[in-house]
Amino acid sequence: MKNIKKNGHMGHIGKVDKLGRVVIPSSMRKNYDIDNGETIEMLSVDEGILIRKYQPGCMFCGSIEDTALFEGHMICKSCAEKISKISE
Ligand SMILES: [Zn+2]
Repeated sequence: MKNIKKNGHMGHIGKVDKLGRVVIPSSMRKNYDIDNGETIEMLSVDEGILIRKYQPGCMFCGSIEDTALFEGHMICKSCAEKISKISE
């Protein structure tokens, strides 16, 4: 595993094995609070693949911004406001 700095971002260069697995360096796992057995998510972004600790999003729209737990489900502020308008 080789450390790199690209476009102002610290990173690593590694190889994908036969099963498509990659190793996230322990320093990065530590920095991003990713423990063994942790669920991660891989998202397609403009620059490539974003790998991060899984953050459950809003159960309706998937947003991870302004979310709160309600009756055991994540819901964002925007969807909560829409729902509250239905009952008016
Ligand atoms: Zn939502």
